[in-house]
Amino acid sequence: MSLIVQKYGGSSLASPQRIREVTERIIRTKKEGKKLVVVVSAMGKTTDNLLKIALQLNSNPPERELDLLLSSGEVISSALVSISLSSFGEEAIAFTGSQIGIITDRLHTKAHIQEIEVKRIFEELDQGKIVIMAGFQGVTPENAITTLGRGGSDITAVAVAAALESDLCEIYTDVEGVYTADPLIIPQARKLKYISYEEMLELAGSGAKVIHSRAVEIASKYKVPLHIRSSFTEEEGTRIG
Ligand code: ASP
Ligand code: MG
Repeated sequence: MSLIVQKYGGSSLASPQRIREVTERIIRTKKEGKKLVVVVSAMGKTTDNLLKIALQLNSNPPERELDLLLSSGEVISSALVSISLSSFGEEAIAFTGSQIGIITDRLHTKAHIQEIEVKRIFEELDQGKIVIMAGFQGVTPENAITTLGRGGSDITAVAVAAALESDLCEIYTDVEGVYTADPLIIPQARKLKYISYEEMLELAGSGAKVIHSRAVEIASKYKVPLHIRSSFTEEEGTRIG
């Protein structure tokens, strides 16, 4: 049975209606006979809003507490997606990064994943459950919550896909894939069907925001096939491999 990791960004989860649409997509994928791990970002602008509140209270917030605060956005999404799946009678189980064992270094607000404990994930998948994971976060060996840097849920998704030796990692966003240029600025821009890791890294370096460049590096190192696509349509997106 093939194993697939899906990552949904904040715009794909911005409202209860969007979460329900994502839920239906997850169920369709499961019905195709796939084992499924879903990595989620915080809803809409949640992370920005939490950061704004913290900065109103303290212009120089302690990074340990900031990470604890910001990680909560993804925790909310993971619980809500699991709750929504359950309303369709699907068995799912949601985890924070620390619960599942995403171990990082101690660099708060820009931590690096050092290790992922895969045993529990495989146990839940083997019981037929859909595993939902809060993206963007981990935990130090001393049990402090860390975050991976802005946009870090992509890193979680690809690192988890690599650790599980997943057959595919789908990155769901609000654009239909990777374009030759920004379609909002250059209307003739074409969507690319396929690009290499190297080409994607170059594009990410020159400002394409569709996926975190560190996620592409990890995908390239561990040869994780990526598919960047929209959660708003059924269109094929851009495959990277
Ligand atoms: N919610 C975090 C951010 O906005 C992480 C992510 O979206 O990937 O940066
Ligand atoms: Mg976000």
